[in-house]
Amino acid sequence: MSYTRMRRSYGAQKSNRSNYRRKSSKPKSSASINPRRFIKVAKTEEVSEYQPTHMFNDFQISDLLKTNLSRKGYKVPSPIQDQAIPLALESKDIIGIASTGTGKTAAFIVPIIQKLSTQQSSAALIIAPTRELAQQIETEFKEMAKGFGIRWATLIGGSSMGYQLKDLRNNPRVIFGTPGRIQDHLKRGSLSLSKFNMVVLDEVDRMLDMGFINDVTEILKFTSGTRQSLFFSATLGAKVQDLAMRFSNSPVTISIKASSTSENVHQDIIGFGNSNEKIEKLHNLLINQEVAKAIVFDETQRNVDRLNQELIDRGFSVEAIHGGKTQSKRQRALKKFKDSEVNILVATDVAARGLDVKDITHVVNYSIPREYDDYIHRVGRAGRAGKMGYAYTFVSSKDI
Ligand code: AMP
Repeated sequence: MSYTRMRRSYGAQKSNRSNYRRKSSKPKSSASINPRRFIKVAKTEEVSEYQPTHMFNDFQISDLLKTNLSRKGYKVPSPIQDQAIPLALESKDIIGIASTGTGKTAAFIVPIIQKLSTQQSSAALIIAPTRELAQQIETEFKEMAKGFGIRWATLIGGSSMGYQLKDLRNNPRVIFGTPGRIQDHLKRGSLSLSKFNMVVLDEVDRMLDMGFINDVTEILKFTSGTRQSLFFSATLGAKVQDLAMRFSNSPVTISIKASSTSENVHQDIIGFGNSNEKIEKLHNLLINQEVAKAIVFDETQRNVDRLNQELIDRGFSVEAIHGGKTQSKRQRALKKFKDSEVNILVATDVAARGLDVKDITHVVNYSIPREYDDYIHRVGRAGRAGKMGYAYTFVSSKDI
């Protein structure tokens, strides 16, 4: 089926919406999200440009840091950077409501580097929900901290304990890590956080969803009592607020409108009757010229592996990531996708969380996400940096 014909048939499904109102008698499951919420016409008009109140040169940061920023090609601060950097430099606690793609990483890395370079006794702990995100933050830090001589350690699961122990013996002043591995080091006595007076929790909502609440609370108790806390989250639910309030001091909340999350993503559903029809429809979607780079989400590790194989057998250029793969395999797959050696990545939610891959054109929800928040996060992968993206969600015909 051609792309245009396919689009028309989705349109026909859209016009038959009365069924959506039918109340499902099923227990709460992924299918309990009303399919109507997966349909949205993207805004085609230009999103009005944010007028920053600062340039990077205006910030009270060192010349070396300014040079590193400009070497990275950062000229104008993004909204979250514009608002958070001056406050963070003043040692304020911050709750930043901003998702991946808004430039939130530099919003906390810049003040951290500035403070570490001027306050020898300072140290920073940055906790991320996934290994990939922790590594992404480390990469951004390495580029921005060039020439400062700041030592760091990255403490994530699935990678060598030996290297981490070696890095820790060098008294790093920045720790990047995931909750589980940081806890492991605390328990072994290989990590002491008492001097860590800057703490960043990135993607707090995801961390809580992933069940890290106890780990994170425990870890925070080990950090310095006079601590600056920076919390970043795509959404501000009650649990996130609760955690932020418990572990911060009169925080300033900065909320960035997530224009990249879904406004410029054209969202639609694809109905299917059975699994054969489902895979055929996916095939038809992926062979389309317009699909330059696509993430296909599926529910379980097994399903991801199965779908990956099926797409390979059909001649697609695919990689897969999920939590059951070793860290090096995940990294290799991701690199191939980022470098466009393959143009399709099949993934579970957890593995794909927070990934900064710029040119994704299509997000395909081969299985329906459990929560609408997951949907928003998935869809946010497409249409980044003002580009138009597409998100298609497979919905069983009986649920439409
Ligand atoms: P993040 O939301 O931190 O994952 O950032 C998303 C992407 O935007 C990353 O690829 C950054 O390198 C890039 N970025 C962040 N801040 C800026 C900026 N001020 N100017 C240009 N690119 C930026």
